Amino acid sequence: MGSDAVLLFRAVLVAAFLVVWYLLTCRIFPYRRCRACGGSGSRKAPFGSSYAPCRRCAGSGGRLRLGRHIWNFLFR
Ligand SMILES: [Zn+2]
Repeated sequence: MGSDAVLLFRAVLVAAFLVVWYLLTCRIFPYRRCRACGGSGSRKAPFGSSYAPCRRCAGSGGRLRLGRHIWNFLFR
């Protein structure tokens, strides 16, 4: 094996490690804050004190991360 192959092997190893690490964090922390409502789960009306549940996250304030979708797809 030449030195180029060793470098490539190391790069692949690091990439694989990062992918596994990302999937594991998505396993432990599956949600990210909803951008539409800032994690509050509700949208305020432009006037008064009226508000409605956020449509993007259905009022939960969190959205499932992409990695968690992948995790569910792989390990369901
Ligand atoms: Zn939301």
